[in-house]
Amino acid sequence: MSGRIIDMAWKKWRLIFTKDLPRDCDGLCDSHSQKRKSIKIKTDLTGQALLETFLHETHHAGNDSICEDYVERIARDQAASFCHKDCLSRFLSCPRIVELINEILEK
Ligand SMILES: [Zn+2]
Repeated sequence: MSGRIIDMAWKKWRLIFTKDLPRDCDGLCDSHSQKRKSIKIKTDLTGQALLETFLHETHHAGNDSICEDYVERIARDQAASFCHKDCLSRFLSCPRIVELINEILEK
């Protein structure tokens, strides 16, 4: 299975973008007891929805004892509050990010 290995609070996870998720599901995080754990994110998500799903699933990956209501709320609030001009303009002014964006746009 492809994807990139990421660290989440001292554990390794494979981050996989895939179409292969149930219709009503944007992301999934494996149980912490699983040996080869993965975080799956629906491949066609973009922008705020992608950020919210990424934050949601990585919250689960970082701590499996926090409740679903909290994870849903904090990820939604974080994504919504970040996706504004004041945060995005600062985020996008980072030379490393600009380089990555240029690389993506040149493809
Ligand atoms: Zn969840």
